Amino acid sequence: MQISKDKIVTFHYRLQDENGVEIESSHGGDPMAYLHGHGNIISGLEKGMEGKNAEDIFSITVEAKDAYGERNEDSKQRVPLKHLSGDKKSKAKLKPGMVVTINTEEGAKQVIVIKAGKFNVDVDTNHPLAGKILTFDVDVQGVRDASNEEISHGHAHGVGGHHH
Ligand code: ZN
Repeated sequence: MQISKDKIVTFHYRLQDENGVEIESSHGGDPMAYLHGHGNIISGLEKGMEGKNAEDIFSITVEAKDAYGERNEDSKQRVPLKHLSGDKKSKAKLKPGMVVTINTEEGAKQVIVIKAGKFNVDVDTNHPLAGKILTFDVDVQGVRDASNEEISHGHAHGVGGHHH
């Protein structure tokens, strides 16, 4: 079965930056599952998936604009420590360059620590992968029709997808 709109795709992937440094891998865990054609995954990867089949193995390199966007150098923010996830102990150990999660009105967001103080932390709110050219080594595990429920929810259910 070919990957097209409203198919559920399960796949393993290895993600590398432009220097070949591994950033993430799903190997060794559950494959990832997504509903194709609904913007569930970054646009460059979704485009590369179109028309592929179960058991296809391929690599795709995605420009920043089709992945997590370009870096915005003005995206700096001072955040009260209480808006950070984690306990007191971990907040006392913040170092520049660390990725932390802040709770915002739009939900949890990953940011990078620029400078940590006693009550506030200066963070870079760009996505940690913004500005990076990313290469995905993809191993398609399976392709199936989405259920009506999955289409109405706009995401995959089951292993690697959403659990309600
Ligand atoms: Zn759902």
